[in-house]
Amino acid sequence: MKQIILTLLLLTLPYTLHAQQSYEFSSLELEMDRIANKYGSNSSEVLKQMEKLLANSPNATPEEKGLFLAYDCSLRAKLTSTLAEERLKDLKNLSINYQDNASIRTATALCEAEIARLHDNDEEYETTIIKAFIFMQDAKLATLRYWIGLNVQYLFGKYQDYQSQEIGLLIGLKVAEDNQDQTRLAAANQLLAETYIATEQYELALKHNKETQKATNNIDDKWYQSEIYTNKAVALTKLGKLDQAIEFYRKSLALTKKLKVYREVQFINLDIAYVLMLKGNNSEAKTLIDDVQKYAKQYDDEFLIYQSLLFTSFQQLTNTSSSSKIQAQINFELSMSYFEKNNYQQSIIDSWLQKAEILKITGNYQESNHAFTQYFSLSKDVFINNNIKAKALIANAYQRIRLDDKAIAEYKLTRATTQKFELAQNRRYFVIGVALLAVILFFILLHFSWRLWKKQQFKKQEINRQRYYDPLTQAYNRRYFDEIICKKLLEDCLSNKTSYLLLIDIDHFKLFNDTYGHTAGDTVLKELVNSLKGDSRLLDSVVRMGGEEFIIILAPDENLRIDAVVERILKLVSNAQIIIEDTPKSITISIGYIPVEKANNNEDIKALVNLADKGLYIAKDSGRNRAIGIKDLQCPANYIDKVLIAQENELLTLTEVVCPT
Ligand code: GH3
Ligand code: MG
Ligand code: MG
Repeated sequence: MKQIILTLLLLTLPYTLHAQQSYEFSSLELEMDRIANKYGSNSSEVLKQMEKLLANSPNATPEEKGLFLAYDCSLRAKLTSTLAEERLKDLKNLSINYQDNASIRTATALCEAEIARLHDNDEEYETTIIKAFIFMQDAKLATLRYWIGLNVQYLFGKYQDYQSQEIGLLIGLKVAEDNQDQTRLAAANQLLAETYIATEQYELALKHNKETQKATNNIDDKWYQSEIYTNKAVALTKLGKLDQAIEFYRKSLALTKKLKVYREVQFINLDIAYVLMLKGNNSEAKTLIDDVQKYAKQYDDEFLIYQSLLFTSFQQLTNTSSSSKIQAQINFELSMSYFEKNNYQQSIIDSWLQKAEILKITGNYQESNHAFTQYFSLSKDVFINNNIKAKALIANAYQRIRLDDKAIAEYKLTRATTQKFELAQNRRYFVIGVALLAVILFFILLHFSWRLWKKQQFKKQEINRQRYYDPLTQAYNRRYFDEIICKKLLEDCLSNKTSYLLLIDIDHFKLFNDTYGHTAGDTVLKELVNSLKGDSRLLDSVVRMGGEEFIIILAPDENLRIDAVVERILKLVSNAQIIIEDTPKSITISIGYIPVEKANNNEDIKALVNLADKGLYIAKDSGRNRAIGIKDLQCPANYIDKVLIAQENELLTLTEVVCPT
């Protein structure tokens, strides 16, 4: 089984490899074709319908758009050149974006050719149409392949580049076959038959002639039926099938007469006469030639006069009499000089060939060979000349393609550079934008951080406040004294600045509590702190050390008169009215105070507090509502504790500040 499949695969492989692409018309192409056929020569109407069609075809491929533009360009060229030039601009823009798209490049070249034709610029037309032909061979669009394929045939024929002509026509034929388009089949086959006659491939010519006949039968179009017959007759003549050739010439003749194309009738008659001569049927030939001669003279048709004279000379060659041969020579030379004068190169070449063949029939081989030599040498010269021209034309077309590609590449380069610049510009804007955003974000962040920090700070302060404040009186507590005030005092000591420490105790507070109750006592504590803080100097330094004991710190001040300040405090407190159960009461305090000097650590401060306490004790002992200050401290505080507080202590000078009444 495997073997069979493998064999089948191998058998089908060559077919797969040679599988040609099919070039069927897309629906849009068919629609364009339909419009072109329907409105025919009314260019502006075709143009209008085409534009409508494209507007309704949003899904058209780039190729189809290119084709539309080429169609449009061709139609516009028939109206005004400026409109066509506009289309060419559109096509060139399309070519820039689709440089490798053969269909679009073909369409662009085709438009160029149409414009060149409009301006009667033959050289430009020939170059651009060949450019279109070069691109067309890789193009996918059927319309373009057919259009160009058939369009270039005349040009290649003119320069006898039959190989290129055949390529173009075979491409056109393939499109016609793929679409089973009978009209196109007829046209492509007809032109191919002519090409094969020109290249002396008569069997092939007959084959395509037959195909043309088949296609025209299918479409029932008889408009070039006479040409089909003539072609067939020419091929048959060349193949030596003279009777059949005459039969088809006659068919062609009948049709041409019917169509009343009388000049053409004369040429067909000459062709028939020629075949008759080849057949040796000279008298019949002579009658025909004489008729043509008569017609030519009647209508003063110079070319026809000399053409018939040429044929008369052939006829005279078949005559054996020597005078007739001289006459033949004269007539031949007359015709040839006419052709030469008018530069009818092809007529001259054809004449030598025909003469050679007639001479051969009559058995005059020597002269026949001479005529053949003439024919070959002339046609060789012309052929070489034309071949050089054809090659130059194709080379020109390739050169133009190279120039076009260069222009496209240069344009793309400029465009890319501009785009790069724009991209860089955009990137710059982007960076600036991002930076701006970052700055804004930074400030927002900063703002929120600052607010958070403030909040935390506030919270910290609150915590500190709770940490360092006495809840009842809102005075600082002992912790504040130990942690903050002590530090400050030590700093001041270090820089030899003297602060004062006042230790305060309410007089007979136990009695007050006992008399008015504990709540009243609390009120007294609060009011005491309030009135002490009421003095701006004392505001920040009132510390509740515990119970009804307070410390006040007086910051270093050279102008401070300590005795006066202490006196003012005593007065401040004793004068304050405290309302207890709607009755104003008052209290007194006793104070022990001391300058803070030479303290090196917390222990020294503690010792100083103890000393102040000793002063306070003396104040209580000596009647209360007074202050005892310790002055002129001569030694470090830590020594003082060891010394008895007494009058005899020489180190201390106790100053009693009695409250003034
Ligand atoms: P002296 O003049 O000798 O200082 O007499 P005193 O009664 O003030 O002396 P003592 O130290 O014996 O009494 C202190 C009293 O302070 C004892 C207590 O009832 C009272 N006390 C301590 N703390 C508070 C408090 O927070 N609230 C109230 N209402 N009373 C307090
Ligand atoms: Mg006390
Ligand atoms: Mg007390």
